[in-house]
Amino acid sequence: MDTNEKQHLTPAQRRRKMELKKKRQKELQRRRRRKKILIGAGIAVCVIVLAFSVFQVVNVLSSGSAKIAARGDTFVIALDPGHGGEDTGMTNGEAVEKDIDLKICSKLKIMLESQGYQVVLTREDDSRLSKEERVSAANESGADLLVSVHSNYSENDGSLSGAVSCYQEGDRKSRTLAENIQAQLIEETGAADGGYLAGDYTILNDTEMPAVLIQPGYLSNADEAASLADDSYQNDTAKGIAYGIIASLDRG
Ligand SMILES: [Zn+2]
Repeated sequence: MDTNEKQHLTPAQRRRKMELKKKRQKELQRRRRRKKILIGAGIAVCVIVLAFSVFQVVNVLSSGSAKIAARGDTFVIALDPGHGGEDTGMTNGEAVEKDIDLKICSKLKIMLESQGYQVVLTREDDSRLSKEERVSAANESGADLLVSVHSNYSENDGSLSGAVSCYQEGDRKSRTLAENIQAQLIEETGAADGGYLAGDYTILNDTEMPAVLIQPGYLSNADEAASLADDSYQNDTAKGIAYGIIASLDRG
């Protein structure tokens, strides 16, 4: 029957039949391509979802273990006020770095002790200590973390201002501590945010516990020097550092 029918087709009918056949083939190819794209897109979505889950798991794990745990019954916090004695640090008018550093640390001590933490200071009065003496005092105290306080200074830009937090290179707990202190410090004082970065200082490199060096402001900036020498600004600074420390503790 079919063969007979074919023989009876006019050239025009044959052409039309060929055209229809081509059209059907094209439609089939189009459907196959669309299916492939859909499968491809599905795989891509799965990969993205999986990557995001892994990222979240890693994030949770890292934030958990980046907190500082107490070695003893209570947290021991070492505070290291910069300079002392003949070593005044930087000055700007009435503002003297060694006094500012000590005042902030003394206020911080009272705040932390009121929360039940044990605090040790590398110096409690106007005495001069070498870098090595500071490091061994901190290491021998068995402290769980150390916070060193200095003031910043720019020789060539008196307009520069803001707080900067430095951490022990390559130590995640130190980095988290610096990050938390920096955030709380900015929140409490309203200082410009100079960020947190790895710092190459003896007090960070040679101490055996997570350690940070905080510079709440620039003494080279006249306005900021006046703030740093002000009692209530020092209170806000100490409060910011205290909140940042407490946020970094693994309190179970
Ligand atoms: Zn200093």
